[in-house]
This record gives sequence, structure tokens and C-alpha cells, in this order.
Amino acid sequence: MQQLHHFINGQTQPGDSGRNAPVYNPATGEQSASVSLASAEETRSAIAAASAAFPGWSNTSALKRSRILFRFKALLEKHSDELATLISREHGKVHSDALGEVTRGMEVVEFACGMPHLQKGEHSLNVGTGVDSHSLMQPLGVCAGIAPFNFPAMVPMWMFPIALATGNTFIMKPSEKDPSAPLRMAELLTEAGLPPGVFNVVNGDKEAVDVLLTDERVEAVSFVGSTPIAEYIYSTASAHGKRVQALGGAKNHMVVMPDADLDQAADALMGAAYGSAGERCMAISVAVPIGEQTAQRLRDKILERMATLRVGPGEVEGQENDMGPLISRVHADKVIEFIDSGVEQGAELVVDGRDIKVAGHENGYFVGATLFDHVRPDMRIYAEEIFGPVLCLVRQESLDEAIALINAHEYGNGTAIFTRDGDAARQYTTRIQVGMVGVNVPIPVPMAFHSFGGWKRSLFGPLHMHGPDGVRFYTRMKAVTTRWPDGLRSEQTSHFTMPTL
Ligand code: NAD
Repeated sequence: MQQLHHFINGQTQPGDSGRNAPVYNPATGEQSASVSLASAEETRSAIAAASAAFPGWSNTSALKRSRILFRFKALLEKHSDELATLISREHGKVHSDALGEVTRGMEVVEFACGMPHLQKGEHSLNVGTGVDSHSLMQPLGVCAGIAPFNFPAMVPMWMFPIALATGNTFIMKPSEKDPSAPLRMAELLTEAGLPPGVFNVVNGDKEAVDVLLTDERVEAVSFVGSTPIAEYIYSTASAHGKRVQALGGAKNHMVVMPDADLDQAADALMGAAYGSAGERCMAISVAVPIGEQTAQRLRDKILERMATLRVGPGEVEGQENDMGPLISRVHADKVIEFIDSGVEQGAELVVDGRDIKVAGHENGYFVGATLFDHVRPDMRIYAEEIFGPVLCLVRQESLDEAIALINAHEYGNGTAIFTRDGDAARQYTTRIQVGMVGVNVPIPVPMAFHSFGGWKRSLFGPLHMHGPDGVRFYTRMKAVTTRWPDGLRSEQTSHFTMPTL
């Protein structure tokens, strides 16, 4: 059985806590590895390594830092297939989807390579006679990242490339369910020339996380995961004086207007609802057709497409599947329980994925694509995040009704509208209380040079991830005012009133 360790101070470090967690292959249900869970002491040793590395790294020239990231990017390209295989094996998503995840993460590395330009700050000449002002965008120090299971490579790359490029040192705490890709990335960073201690991976659970949230040497915490934990991370780390961005759960709606191209909308819904088995924070889990006719036609088109959906293991020789298994037995059972509750609460179960069998993978954590119609807002399958391949149709009569429905939901991560009507699209994009909106784009994940983040209970903290907000999050502004005039030698040098220029 493979044992997965930590990566601290530039090298693999075997865990010594005596605590381990099993890592499974979700397609077979077999344990593939065991991962060390760090003790508080081991976590503190990683913080010590990152603290010791900070003075050297923050004083390394911006260009040198960038060049290391350029080399890391080249190594990611070279090893993307290997990383995708690790992801598929531990997460279960299909290989091309895992490759897509690596690419989206790599785009943040590309963005971070341009950091010397983004970290220049501002300068004003002659704000007063002989007085100039400039700002410094300085790194914070040791930063920590805590990631969810569903994007084991991309979510860490939303965080550490920008943190490192701006001169911080970093401790990554991956999900204990699929830690291999972040560990491999730590090796690639070292191969790219990153000095020891600048990037560390601590595997673990609450014990490690709690140290990262409370140790005074950690300056900032980036978190992505479920809302209850995001809330805990935000309140605990903020109470300990840290800068925090904590991204939480989601329930993403797609409004389909009567004038939409319904084939395009149905195609988009298939990928957005069932891609990665619905385990995406930007997955569409609710379709909101406007008007009974739109609802019936859309439902028929979805059903046609569901009939040919291929469900199976993420790693296959030859033809790939559309959708893999869920992350764990516990999670698959939870999704099945949600489906049971939808039936009990009176939704119409149009396609039932509960009893799916994948030949040769009978012990895998598969749940088939599921469709509910006539779902009401008071039902659990609507109100709560399922994080599985379950799509709910909630029929509404008008765009106004749809907007009111979506704005009343506790989450506000992503949403989409499908329409040919510019006015409807404009109304929707301005009035909807959601952080990321697509117009005829089902999963509007912003590119690396824009920022990613939801509203309401999908994000705690003011700054989104990557893009300009990412740079703001990992830097601290300092305003410097300088005077080099003859006046310094003037007779009166002390001023006791508020300086004005
Ligand atoms: P999770 O909240 O269970 O775990 C996330 C991280 O927190 C893991 O590293 C885990 O080890 C740690 N953790 C778990 N319980 C903890 C505790 N009690 N104390 C301290 N740390 C703890 O989330 P998950 O199941 O890994 O991921 C799925 C969730 O992530 C979904 O809710 C999904 O919507 C969300 N997500 C959100 C975004 C976004 O951008 N908003 C992106 C991806 C995933």
C-alpha cells in the first residue's frame, strides 16, 4: 500500500503522528493509498520552515520569482497527463475533465508569471512641492491554503502561484481524500528551482487546520470547501487576526427563456449538471424554464440526451465516459438519501440514478444521472447543496419570478441565463445576486486574469480568488511619502498640525 507523506522544507517528510487516512479509488472502491495526518507539532514545523524561508524569498527579485513559475508552468505542461491520471484515480473524474482542471490551474500560473507588472504599485510625482508619493505592494508572510476534494490540482493553483509570485511563502493543506496531485506539484516546484520551505504541503484534518488558523506566524488563510467549514475557517482565522477568504458551497441555477435555443441549452445543461458527477461548485443543479411550453420542450430534450450518457470509471483505455463515480461511499449514500427525500417530498422523479450498476466496477461509488421535475423551493433537494448528478427543474412563469426565486436562495456562487433577448440578459446580469453570471455560458468560471468568487453564503470575506483580487489578497499596501526639497534644511522643521500639502 502506498504511503503518502508531507512535503516540508523542500523534501518529502514522513508523518510521525501515527494517524493516517485511507485514500480510495472511487471507481473500484479499493483503497489505493494511506495518507499521513499531521499532528499540531508537525504542522508547526511546516510553519517554521515557511517562516524561515520568507525573508529570502520575499527579497528575491520579482523576475527571479517569475522565472521559477515559468519553469513550473513548463513542467506542468510536461506532466499534465500524469497529474490528470493521479486526479482521476483518487477523485474519479474522467481523464479529459482532469486534464481540463490542470489546464485551468495552469492558467493561474501563467497569470502569476506576469506579477512583476502587477506588483508595481502606484507613484505620484509632486503631490506637494518637492513631495512624491508611492505605494509598495508587499507580501504578507506565511500564507496557508486549505482545499476541497473536488479540484485537487486547480483549487490549490487558484492560491499558491499568486501567493508565491508576490513573495509569500505557503503551506498547502490538501483534501485528505485526494492529496497526490498537490504533493506531485510540490516536487515540480522544487524541480523548477523553488527554494526549500517556500512551498510546503501538510496533509491532515482538523488538527492541522486548527493550527493554521490560530498560529500567529500565519498571516493569511485561503479556503475552499463546504459552507459550514468555510464559516468556521473565516470566523476562527479572522478572530486570530488573519486575512481570510473562504469560499463555500453553492446551488447554481440556469434560467432558460422561451426564446432560447433549446438544443443549445439542453446540451449545456448535460455537461453543467452531470460533468464531474455534479461535484463542481459551479455545476448547474437547478434549471428554471420560463413557461410551461419551454419546460416541456426542455425536459424532452434533456431526456433524449440522458439516454446516451455514459457512466463509468474515469480512467479508461479507449473511449472515455461522460461521468465518473462520486468521491466516497458516504457521499454516494448521501446523494441517494437526497433523491429519496425528493420522492418523499413530492417531486416527480423523471430519471432515477440510484440503482446504476457499472459492469466490472460493482463496488465503485456510482450514482447515475438523475432528473427531477416539478421541484418546489421548500424541498430539501432544492434548498440544500447535493453535490451529485441530480438536476432539478423548477418551473417559473416569468423572468421576474425566476430572479426572485434565485435571489431568495442562501447561496450565490454561479448562475446562467439562456436567451436570445439582450434586454432579458441585461436585466438578469444586473439584478441577480450571484457572484458569477453566464449569458448562454453554462459554467461561467472567470479566466485566471479575472477573479473567482460567489456572493452570499458562497463566500466569506471581501476578496475573490485569483485575478486582481488574488493580487490584493496576498499583498499589503504601504503608502510612502517622500520629501527631498531644500526645505528640509529650513529653519522650522517641527509641525504640530495635521500635514496638508
Ligand atoms: P469540506 O468543507 O468537507 O472540506 C474542505 C477542506 O476543509 C478539506 O481540506 C478538509 O480536510 C477541511 N475540513 C473538513 N472539515 C473540517 C473541520 N471540521 N475543521 C477544519 N477543517 C476541516 O469540503 P469538501 O467536501 O472537500 O468539498 C466540497 C465542497 O466544497 C462543496 O460544498 C463545494 O461546493 C465546495 N466548493 C466550493 C468552491 C467555490 O469556489 N465556492 C469550489 C470547490 C468546492
